[in-house]
Amino acid sequence: MTDFSTAILNWYNHEKTSMPWRDEPDPYRIWLSEVMLQQTQIQTVIPYYLKWIKTLPTVKDTAESSEDVVLKLWEGLGYYARARNFRLACQMITENFDGIVPSDPIQFKQLKGVGDYITAAVQSIAFGHPLPVIDGNVRRITSRLLSLPHPPDQHNEEIMDFLTLHIGDTQPGDFNQGMMDLARDVCKPKVPLCTQCPVSCYCSAFSDQTIHRYPVKKEKKIRPHFRVAVGVIWKDSHILVSKRKSNGLLGGLWEFPGGKIQNGESSPECIQRETLEELGIHVTVGDFIKTIQHAYTHFSISMDSYHCRFQTGEPKSIGCSDWMWIKRDELVSLAFPKANHKIFDKIPEVSPFEN
Ligand code: SF4
Repeated sequence: MTDFSTAILNWYNHEKTSMPWRDEPDPYRIWLSEVMLQQTQIQTVIPYYLKWIKTLPTVKDTAESSEDVVLKLWEGLGYYARARNFRLACQMITENFDGIVPSDPIQFKQLKGVGDYITAAVQSIAFGHPLPVIDGNVRRITSRLLSLPHPPDQHNEEIMDFLTLHIGDTQPGDFNQGMMDLARDVCKPKVPLCTQCPVSCYCSAFSDQTIHRYPVKKEKKIRPHFRVAVGVIWKDSHILVSKRKSNGLLGGLWEFPGGKIQNGESSPECIQRETLEELGIHVTVGDFIKTIQHAYTHFSISMDSYHCRFQTGEPKSIGCSDWMWIKRDELVSLAFPKANHKIFDKIPEVSPFEN
């Protein structure tokens, strides 16, 4: 063990943040928490984690659940492929490993949705394998410790070499969690708390007083903006909802039919075109409901919504994976994207076309 790793482990021992999955020997729970924590803050994850564990406490429970159940438990966390893949991976474990999470990193990494990060996190924390975890926080602290001259993702090899040198094989899980906690809570993105840092004596940027230069930033990409229109399509007292295809953005979630507005097209025209293309039905567009502004990670949308009346055709899954007519009060039992949620409170119990 190096002096650097001893400093990280001592700090982690005294300062580690309490989380419901910590000090749990259960690899399934550690794995679930790490999947949820990718791209998401701890405080956001905790209630989702607790609800999931209460509903699906074991690999077998998740393996036997439906996709709709796991997406509902995940609703609002984003990056829904994580939930779908976690369920599929649990099914693989039930079929091939008797329901026991593999302790072999090579076998574990073959599970659906499992990459380098999850393998290193789960295998080090649950099984003691000395595999360094590299997330955005660890990249930031390492780029400061080593004064890396380019954006951190251009230095993956140096970062991995540095961590491999220090992780040791006695407490690799604690070392990884210590690095992640220290980076998040002390080596903060904007104002690092260097006077509280247990490894400041090893920090190149601190010793050179050049912390403000690291991590070197990438050029920012402009986030595209799309205009979208959707219809709340009524047939008597029922509303038509369609399910997004599994392999795309927000895959597997239910939504109000519609899509991107094309050049020169009005919102009502867009809804009529999209419902014909995606579901094979004709609708008439009625009252405007509201416009929603919503920002996703890689793009933002303005979404116009309208009440629509079903006219003709038998719905078919052309541009979606499924569809169904539901009652107003069934909306809350399905998983919808956040932008769709924002019009729920404007949808009446009975069809506006029945008056
Ligand atoms: S000394 Fe400051 S910049 Fe360097 S690792 Fe510690 S907190 Fe980060």
